[in-house]
Parts: sequence; C-alpha cells; structure tokens
Amino acid sequence: MRSSATAHALPPPGVKAEVKDLPAVDRLLRDAAVAALVVEHGHTLVAWQARTLLEGLRTRALTGLLARAEIEPGALAAALARAVAVRLAPRLRTVLNLSGTVIHTNLGRALLAEGALAHVLSAMAGPNNLEYDLQSGGRGDRDSIVEELLCTLTGAEAATVVNNNAAAVVLTIAALARRREVIVSRGELVEIGGAFRMPDVMAAAGARMVEVGTTNRTHARDYADAIGPRTALLMKVHTSNYAVQGFTAVVDEAELAAIAHARGLPLASDLGAGSLVDLAAYGLPHEPTPREKLAAGCDVVSFSGDKLLGGPQAGLIVGSRAAIGRIRKFPLKRALRMSKLPLAALEATLMLYLRPERLARDLPTLRLLTRPAAEIRALATQLQPAVAAAVAPRLVVSVVELLGQIGSGSLPVDRLPSAGLALAPLQKKGAGRALDALATALRALPLPVIGRIAEDRLLLDLRCLEDAAPFLAQLPMLQEALA
Ligand SMILES: *Cc1c(COP(=O)(O)O)cnc(C)c1O
Repeated sequence: MRSSATAHALPPPGVKAEVKDLPAVDRLLRDAAVAALVVEHGHTLVAWQARTLLEGLRTRALTGLLARAEIEPGALAAALARAVAVRLAPRLRTVLNLSGTVIHTNLGRALLAEGALAHVLSAMAGPNNLEYDLQSGGRGDRDSIVEELLCTLTGAEAATVVNNNAAAVVLTIAALARRREVIVSRGELVEIGGAFRMPDVMAAAGARMVEVGTTNRTHARDYADAIGPRTALLMKVHTSNYAVQGFTAVVDEAELAAIAHARGLPLASDLGAGSLVDLAAYGLPHEPTPREKLAAGCDVVSFSGDKLLGGPQAGLIVGSRAAIGRIRKFPLKRALRMSKLPLAALEATLMLYLRPERLARDLPTLRLLTRPAAEIRALATQLQPAVAAAVAPRLVVSVVELLGQIGSGSLPVDRLPSAGLALAPLQKKGAGRALDALATALRALPLPVIGRIAEDRLLLDLRCLEDAAPFLAQLPMLQEALA
C-alpha cells in the first residue's frame, strides 16, 4: 500500500515518463521475463493484464505522474507479474475471526467440521448417487440422503431440505397457504439481516398475512378470533435477533397447535437457528429445538443449517408426513433445492449428532461456543508479549476479559464470557486514526485478522483462535506495516 502511494508522488522534472516512452503490448510481451509469465499462464491472461497495466500507466503519464523508473523493462515485468498474481488471487479468502461473534453472518457463519469437509471432498471427486437409488438401480430422491437422519434427530415423521431457511419459510408458506391467509402475531414480524422481513416474505409467497395481537402481547383468543374461511395456516416466528421484555404475553406452540388443529389447520414454526441439542446441557443458554416444537404440536418446523446446527448453508424443514408431502410436491421446491456440495456437508454434520458425547469436540460451532473463558484467557496471556512487540511503540497491548456473542440471530441478549487482547494507542491525540490504521493493517495481512473497535481500543477476542501459529507467523508483517 505504502509503496504505491510513493509511486504516485509527482516525479521530479526530467525523470518523468511520457506516453511515447511506453512500449506497445506486443513489445512488452516479448520481454524475456514477461515471456516466462506467458509460458506459465498462457497468452490470454498475460496480454489482458498487460493492456490494463499499460492503460493505467498511460493515464498517469498524461497527468505527469509517471516516473521513468517505472517503465524500465525490469519494473514493467515485475508490475505485470504482480498484476497477474493479484488477478489470480481468490476474492473469497480465509480470515481469522477475532470479532467475538462465533457464528458471524458476514464471515461465513458456522465452520464446517473436519468430517464434513472430508465428506464433501470425497463425495464430489467423482459421480455420486445424489438422485440414484443404489438398491433398485432407479431414480432416487436427494432428500433421502438426510431425511432419515433429520427424523431421528428431531422426532419428525418426514423432512425435506432447501437452499437456506429463508427459502424454507417461503416454500412452506407458499405450499401451505398460497392465495389464502396466514395468521401471525404482531410481536413476531421479524426482520433478519439482508431484507428478509416477515410481511414481505408472506407477500412473496403469495399469502395474505393476518396480524394479530400487539407488539408486546398476543393472546390465544387473538388467534382464534382471526380464523376464518380463508385461513390456511397459523405461524410462529422465533424472535431470533431481538427480545420483547416487560409487560408481555405470547401463546406457546402447544396452545396454538390446539387452536389450529381444532379448526383443521396446520401450525408452522420458523425457528431460525434451531439447535439440534439442548444447549443448556453444555452450559449455554437454552435455545428452542425442533424436537421440542414438534412435540408441542407444530406440523412444520424450519431452521437454518449454518447457524447453531454448525453445518453448511441449508434450510431444513421437518414435520408431519402430510405437510412435508405438500411442501415437497410444490413446484417452487425444485427451484430452491439444495446443491450436492452442501448436501454432502449436511449429511456428515448431522451424522456427528448421532454421537452426542463427542459433539462438543467434533462440531466446531459447539466446541467454540463451549470453550472455557479461562483457556481463552491463558491463550491471551501467552500471545500478549509477541503482539505487544509487534505493535510497539505506538500501541500498548493488554489482556482483557471480554463478552462475546453467539451470533447469527441466535440468543440475542446472552453474552459469552471470553477474553482477548486490547490494543490501544499510547497517545490520545490521533487515537482514532491510529486504530483505523491498525484495523486496516490487520485486514491487509495474508490471513486477514478481523477484530472489533470499542472504546478507543481494538479488541481481539481469542475464542475462535484455536491454532495460534498462523496468527503469530504474521506478526512480523504487521510490525512492518505499522512501522
Ligand atoms: C436466520 C433466520 C432466517 C433466515 O435463515 P437463513 O438460513 O439465513 O436463510 C429466517 N427466520 C429466522 C427467524 C431466522 O433467525
């Protein structure tokens, strides 16, 4: 970054390059070093980057900003090699999530378990039986790869899977209530990030939403009174990313199921995160499980694959044979179906739940969520001297207690006791700029480090740093960037 800033400084007169000094693309490609690049990457890419490079240099020459030194053959070849390398560097990168939010939607949500990664690799290396029944030799159904597992783990009669939970909700509403009415509480009209808002989802699914109750209180009679000839579905939506507190009343699934079933109507629940195990058993706050909701009488429960479940992006729909049958047959299902890659990851992830005794070790999401604060603190203490040396003398580093989050709209008010490093500028003056520069330098590392800024400090929550070696290996680069 800094080298390009100096390169753009106005060169002294006499060493300025002019447009006429620039080589033509062909001549540049004949340069010995560039020819080697062509051998490695082929003519198309190198010629394309050469054209782009020369266009940029031409613009700078026209404004008098180009130094002669930059168009020496060696410099041009090096610039071209850099441009090719940058072009071939993936935009999707592995990062270190030291933000304190374990399931971070912007950082790809749940980490896949080793077993899931291995299964994706091996199942994708060749043809597979995605939709082929190995017993009969006839056509199979991709749902069957995970349906039995999902039924075992939730107590459901049937299950189907789609691309994500947003798709699961749209599909459920469309299949069960298109052109008819869905009754939902005003306290549950959630907005999830990325423009997923319950009223819009209902409209997109072609259903008419009938809101009942108030923001803070909804009663059984509100639902019962709203049921009419056009009602097709009653719906509960988990308030995943907010909490209504104080003078409140909600109708639970058991009571609502009784109301719905007495009128011959189904009850659907959008659970959002949907943990497959009782998190309280692991010392975490309880989050409702699909099994509980089905046992309470819900006909359909949908939840995400990459939130608390700890798998790939997926929308899982479990419920009664009748309801799941209608959902599976609905034409939109084909458009929203899951791809084979996440399906393989999902199968291997669900398999981990068959061995609950090992889950907190084998499932990264649960392993990170249950990591003891004392262990995280010990790691922070261990890393402190090396980080302090790398950011000295302008910043000081201290070991701090932190409060992290589960993330992804799971358990919004609960905090995870954690620990980490606080990096603070020594001088109050210009502290904001120093912190921004530090955060930028951390993000510019080969393995970008994502922290968070709070109260004039940059915080690195170490809960999700399981292997410190790659982090430590980058500290010399950080030191150089800050020098
Ligand atoms: C997260 C969430 C969704 C959307 O799930 P995706 O898997 O992100 O599509 C829908 N409803 C609720 C209540 C959620 O928490």
